[in-house]
Amino acid sequence: MKYYSTNRSVPEASLSEAVIKGLAPDRGLYMPAGINPLPQAFFRDMQRMTFQEISHAVAEAFFGEDVPAGELREIVYDALSFDTPVVPVTEDIYSLELFHGPTLAFKDVGARFMARMLRYFVSREGDGRPVTVLVATSGDTGSAVANGFLGVEGIDVVVLYPKGKVSEIQEKQFATLGRNITALEVDGTFDDCQRLVKAAFLDEELNGKFRLSSANSINVARFLPQAFYYFHAYAQLQRLGKAENVVFCVPSGNFGNLTAGLFARRMGLPVKRFIAANNRNDIFLEYLKTGEYAPRASVATLANAMDVGDPSNFARIYDLYGGSHEAVCREIGGYRYTDDEIREIMRETYRKTGYVLDPHGACGFGALRNGLQPGETGVFLETAHPAKFRDTVEAAIGAPVEMPERLRKFMEGDKRSIGVSSAFRDFKAFLLAREA
Ligand SMILES: *Cc1c(COP(=O)(O)O)cnc(C)c1O
Repeated sequence: MKYYSTNRSVPEASLSEAVIKGLAPDRGLYMPAGINPLPQAFFRDMQRMTFQEISHAVAEAFFGEDVPAGELREIVYDALSFDTPVVPVTEDIYSLELFHGPTLAFKDVGARFMARMLRYFVSREGDGRPVTVLVATSGDTGSAVANGFLGVEGIDVVVLYPKGKVSEIQEKQFATLGRNITALEVDGTFDDCQRLVKAAFLDEELNGKFRLSSANSINVARFLPQAFYYFHAYAQLQRLGKAENVVFCVPSGNFGNLTAGLFARRMGLPVKRFIAANNRNDIFLEYLKTGEYAPRASVATLANAMDVGDPSNFARIYDLYGGSHEAVCREIGGYRYTDDEIREIMRETYRKTGYVLDPHGACGFGALRNGLQPGETGVFLETAHPAKFRDTVEAAIGAPVEMPERLRKFMEGDKRSIGVSSAFRDFKAFLLAREA
C-alpha cells in the first residue's frame, strides 16, 4: 500500500517511510492510497471472534501487503492484549471502555501498536544509528507512548514535558519507568517542548548520530489501529441483538479517534452515523454549522485531552470527503459541552445509572443523550478511566472513585526525570552526551 500526503506535493511513501517519518515532508498527513473493504463473511463471523482476532483481520486489510503475515499477527497479539468491552449505561446507550490498557486511556491501543510496528521496520531496515523517539507531551500522550515503548528493544524514548504543568498522576506514568524511557522535565511550557523536538528533527549533527522518530498521534501506525475497536464494539452489539442503526459518538480533540471510525465505515462496518463531542473547543462543531474551518487558540477545560484549537486530523476528514461540507454533515453530527454541563452529565448519569463517567466520556454520553433518535443504538467511546481525573469526578458525583491497581502502582514509583532548560543547545548537548 502506498501512502499519499493530504497536501499532495510530495511523492507517495511506503508504509515503512510513513511510519518512520510520521509527518509527510510537505507537512501533510499520510493517507492510505486505498481502503480495502472486508468480506461479508467477516461481518457474519465477527460476533464469535475475540478483540485480537478481529483486530488481526482489520490489520491485514490495512497492512497485509507490507508486513509478512506472521509478523503482523505477532504485532497485533502483542500490542492488543487487553479488552475493549461494551458496557450498557442506559437501554440504548453503551460505553465502549477503551481504558483497560497500561495507562488506562485509549491512546494505549495506538501507542503499543506503533511501538511494535516501528520495532519491526527498524529491525529490517536499521542502519546502525540508534533509534530515538522524541515525544513532547502536555500529559497523556507521554504516558501512552512511554508505556507503549517500554522494554521495546532497539528503541529509546525521550519524553519532554513542561515542569509543573502536568498532573502528578500523568507525570508518574512516564517519569518513573526507567529502562529505555527517559523523562526530561523542561523548564518552560508545552510549546517549548514542541519547539525543542522540532528543532532536533532539523539538526544535522543529531540526525547524523541518531535516527530520530516521532510517536506523534498523526502517525499512521498509531492512527489506523484505532479502527480495530469500532469493529469489536459492533461485534459485541451483534451478540446483544442491538446492531441495527448504530451511532458512534466520539469525544474529540485532534479527531484521530473519530477519523479511524470513518475508515472502519469505509471498510464496510455498518455504522449509521457519527457524532463528534466537543468541549468548549468547538472548532469542528463550528465547521459543521458554517462550512468554515476557523482554528483558534485552545481554552483549558475539565476534559483537557480535548483542548485542541486546530485539530490535526481535520485534514484527513476533509480529504476523505473530497472537501464537501455537505458530505461531511451527512455522516457526522456534533455537540459541545461547557465545564458546568460536563459536571452535570457526570452527576446525573451517576445518580440515575450508577455509571461513573470521566470528563471526556461525559461529553460523549451527553451528545448521545441529546442526539440519539428513536430506533438507534448509541455507543460512546469512554476514552479514559475516571480515576485519572479523580478529583474532578469525585467532586461532581459526590462519591469516591475506585483507584485501579495499575494506577496505584504508578503512584508508588519514584520520579526519575532529568531537568533541562528550554534552550535548544542544552537539549542537544544532553542528547549527544547520551551516546557514550
Ligand atoms: C487524546 C484523548 C482524546 C481525544 O482524542 P483525539 O483522537 O485526539 O480526538 C479524548 N479523550 C482522552 C481521554 C484522550 O486522551
